[in-house]
Parts: sequence; structure tokens; C-alpha cells
Amino acid sequence: MLLKDKVVLVTGASAGIGRAIAMEAARQGARVAINHFDPDNSAADKTVAEIKTLGRDAVALRADVALPDSAPAFVEAAIKAFGQVDVVVLNAGICPFHSFLDMPHEVFERTMAVNLHGAYYMAQAAANQMVKQGKGGAIIGVSSISAYVGGEYQTHYTPTKAGILSLMNSLAIALGKHGIRCNAVLPGTIETDINKADLSDPRKRAAMAGRVPLGRLGVPEDLAGPVIFLASDMARYVNGAALLVDGGMFVNLQ
Ligand code: NAP
Repeated sequence: MLLKDKVVLVTGASAGIGRAIAMEAARQGARVAINHFDPDNSAADKTVAEIKTLGRDAVALRADVALPDSAPAFVEAAIKAFGQVDVVVLNAGICPFHSFLDMPHEVFERTMAVNLHGAYYMAQAAANQMVKQGKGGAIIGVSSISAYVGGEYQTHYTPTKAGILSLMNSLAIALGKHGIRCNAVLPGTIETDINKADLSDPRKRAAMAGRVPLGRLGVPEDLAGPVIFLASDMARYVNGAALLVDGGMFVNLQ
């Protein structure tokens, strides 16, 4: 029960990594507010229903994190439901793989807006609420191994993940005086919808898995423990940290 009585907000929690984090937060005693974007609410509703079967309360709000107004609306919905905000996980993200030389402006701008601007607005809205409450909090940015390495078809994506890491560094300083800890997790290759098409090529999949010293690609639940730790009081002196969660892929160069 590492998050007993805490209120945890997770963006992009209808699927993949965000969903796994939301579920584990509930198992650890939190009440959970989730955000998602697809107009079909069924995946988000399913997450909420599964959290409720654990005996925890949950709400879902559909909103596009790229829009500045979505962030205060999400915080407001969490306050209305639960009265406080203790933890926010900046997870919503997209990665529409595309080559660089013919990258459409709208794909570049949309990826920036969802992944980086969305995280910025959400962190700002949650931090203002935490400062108002006066008892600190935790902000966790879902960055990526891509903050450290490039990708031929990810020239629009990797800068957003480096940006989230950088944002967490600056927020750790800006918000430390309020007792709000800001940290980043950097997933390696985790099998979700975001890379389903890319990993559907068996040779590519085997090559990616072969680079991981632990011998397998990640699953969304692999991120849940590290995020819950950073959100919890066990990490009370961890601020401005970057935690790779990649099975050792990044250090496997030689
Ligand atoms: P995913 O399975 O595709 O899930 C993405 C989630 O984000 C969904 O819940 C989706 O909700 C939501 N979302 C997308 N656009 C949104 C928007 N504009 N506003 C609000 N929510 C939005 O992807 P994932 O792999 O779990 O990715 C989660 C995060 O992990 C991303 O930030 C990604 O960059 C990061 N990451 C993933 C990997 C990996 O290998 N999978 C590696 C490193 C980092 P709807 O379906 O309702 O739109």
C-alpha cells in the first residue's frame, strides 16, 4: 500500500504503459483519475471498471492533452471527484513513425504538441494545485530511452522525450521548495499499440529483443513498479532523477 490515500492522475491511461501505471496505483491504495483521447471511451471505461473491482475509486476524463485548457480541466475533475491531487504521471504520447526528409509539418507539430506541450501544461496545472494544497507531491514524466539515443524514423519524437527529461530536471528545481519531487522514467522498448506495427516485422522484433541483456522486450507492467516507487514516500529524497527501465538495452553497446 505504497500510495494509500493518495490521489494519482495519469494521462494517456486507457492503454499501454499509462493503464498499467493506473492499475498498479490503485492496487497500492490510490484513488485514480485517468485521461485519454479516443472518442470511443470503451478502453478508458474498462480501466475505470477494473480499478473499481479492486475496491478503489476512479474517474476518466476524455481530453486532448495538446490543448492548454485540458490540463486545468483534468485537475478540476480530479478535485471534484477526490478533493486533492498528490501525484501526476505525464504519460500521454504518440509516435507516428516517419522519415525525416519528407516529414509533414502537421505530423511534427502534432507530436510536439501532444508529447511535450501536453506534459508541460499538465505538470503546470497539477503543480499549481499541489502548491495550493501545501503538502508537496510527485510529478513523474514518462520520457524514453529515446532521450539518449536517436531513431531514423523518430526525428520528431526523440526531441519530445529529451524535452520531458529536461522538463523534469527544471521542475525538480522550480518545485523543490514546495516539496514537489519531479523525476523521469525512461522506458526502453515496451510492447504496446505505439510500436505494434513497427514490431510486427519478426526480424526487427527479434533484433530489438536481442539487444536487451534481460532477453526480452518490455511489457507495460514493467513500468508500474518504478513509477509507483518514484510516486511514493519511499522516494522522498529522489528529485530530478532519470530512471532507465529498459532491461539494460542502453548500456549494451559493445
Ligand atoms: P499507447 O499504448 O499507444 O498508449 C498511449 C496512451 O496515450 C493512450 O491511452 C492514448 O489514449 C493516450 N493519448 C494519445 N494521444 C493523446 C492525447 N492527445 N491526449 C490524451 N491522451 C492521449 O502507448 P504507450 O507505449 O503506452 O506510450 C505511453 C508513453 O510511453 C508515451 O509517452 C510514450 O512516448 C512512452 N514510451 C513508450 C515506449 C514503448 O516502447 N512503448 C518507450 C518509451 C517511451 P487514446 O487511445 O484514448 O487516444
